[in-house]
Amino acid sequence: KPAAETQYLTVLHTNDNHGRFWHNEKGEYGMAARKTLIDQLRNDAKAQGHAVLLLSGGDINTGIPESDLQFAEPDFKGMSFIGYDAMALGNHEFDNPLSILKKQQQWANFPLLSANIFDKKTGENAFQAYQIFKQQGLTIAVIGLTTTDTAKIGNPQFIGGLEFKEPVEITKAVAQKIKVRYQPDITIAVTHMGHYVDASYGINAPGDVTLARSLPHGTLDMIIGGHSQEPICMTADNKSDDNFKPGMACKPDQQNGTWIMQAHEWGKYVGKAMFKIENKQLTLINYELLPVNLYIDKVNANGITVPELANEYITPNPELKSFLAPYQAKGAKQIEGEIGFVNAKLEGDRNKVRYQQTNLARVIIQAQMNSVNADFGLISGGGVRDSISAGEVSYKDILKVHPFKNRITYMDWQGQDLLDYLDIVTRFPPDSGAYLQYHQLSFERNNDSLINVMINGKELNKTKTYRMSLNSYNASGGDGYPALTDLKGFVSTEETDAQALKRFFSEYSPVDAAEFSPK
Ligand code: ATP
Ligand code: ZN
Repeated sequence: KPAAETQYLTVLHTNDNHGRFWHNEKGEYGMAARKTLIDQLRNDAKAQGHAVLLLSGGDINTGIPESDLQFAEPDFKGMSFIGYDAMALGNHEFDNPLSILKKQQQWANFPLLSANIFDKKTGENAFQAYQIFKQQGLTIAVIGLTTTDTAKIGNPQFIGGLEFKEPVEITKAVAQKIKVRYQPDITIAVTHMGHYVDASYGINAPGDVTLARSLPHGTLDMIIGGHSQEPICMTADNKSDDNFKPGMACKPDQQNGTWIMQAHEWGKYVGKAMFKIENKQLTLINYELLPVNLYIDKVNANGITVPELANEYITPNPELKSFLAPYQAKGAKQIEGEIGFVNAKLEGDRNKVRYQQTNLARVIIQAQMNSVNADFGLISGGGVRDSISAGEVSYKDILKVHPFKNRITYMDWQGQDLLDYLDIVTRFPPDSGAYLQYHQLSFERNNDSLINVMINGKELNKTKTYRMSLNSYNASGGDGYPALTDLKGFVSTEETDAQALKRFFSEYSPVDAAEFSPK
């Protein structure tokens, strides 16, 4: 090809699907409408001679019971149907045993990439690190990366054999290797690491901005990300547009010459980036976040606020819709019907349950204590994933609280060992997933020591034995809790947290929320 020839590339992207293969009650998003939009964008771009790639920033799993109950089979098959070219492995791809992830790799007819996850035993890459695409005379390298926080927040039962390495050095090395071998025109990282404005990543692992700034200029042309679940739209350097609404113009971030893009979450938008390549120089000529049947509040002629579509209605692709409909029906059938009743809200909102004791956490722990006949119990606050509203309670409500399919376990403690354990787990600070929720336990912390520990209303006796209920996530070291699984006195049951809570509601309804309000 002549050197001066202009070439074009369109990158389409989504991220953080979290089980949203189907539209919501309002008809927003959903894979069938997403396909219609993507088909049109791809056809338009191809007609203009563009190379076209469709990428996902990961976290396909976990969030909607209809999907979770089917291990995201509809989601991965739906993505294959839509024609994704590659995705990054997200932390939630490790919510299930690795055998399930293997199945998901088969349901996907595209690679699940991550260059920084290694098999501890062999020292080798645990997953495909990158993929090379050749289209329209362009060679495009796509490298996958996963947040190192997965090791901290992921389920130790499933990720114990994996090492999540710092992405910067890995990216340098992989990009160099690719450069020598393939001389790509464009190098893209598809990541699940989060976009933190001006690299202010706080308590999280460093994300895309830090990565872009840490690499030699020119290493990556763009980062297609996920995990922080935001539309990356900037008003100025290192200033994000907090007023962005569906349908508005969006300027992605750029750091050290690398574009950083993310399309919020759940397939609400498809990101579309059009590039021109001239003399090896890549220029962004157009960027849009295209809403997928999202509603926004608009004030009409009579001064009344009404929800209005932010875009022209996108008709869901009929073939994909009829492919997914049986999955939706099957999922819905498994969770239909009321199983109980509660007379007031049970609090599981993220901004409460990671900061203070809540009634829902106590109901959950009571249910788990009942399962194994425990004296007291605990869970980490971050494991409570939703609230339960006052009124009828459905299995769906319960699966939203407990999407992870953790097992109920217990530990028979000698009093002194229990004290040592409690001394550790009562230290986790608020505002972290690890924050301790407990029931039938009370204590005080004084000058760094744990005092007045009471179990079930009685002072802890160092020579007595106590049974503690907890889930398999915390028992195996999740959220930094001491691992108990190899200790004498530890037992795991086959019952899941959702089953235990379901049983509790069917046995004790109507549940009186006040009975569980923390004192
Ligand atoms: P993402 O942003 O990728 O969706 P996330 O929402 O899970 O990640 P956080 O909201 O910070 O990230 O939640 C992490 C917390 O979720 C952990 O600290 C832990 O308390 C809880 N958690 C994660 N996985 C499990 C699991 N398998 N079982 C129980 N709790 C879990
Ligand atoms: Zn994530």
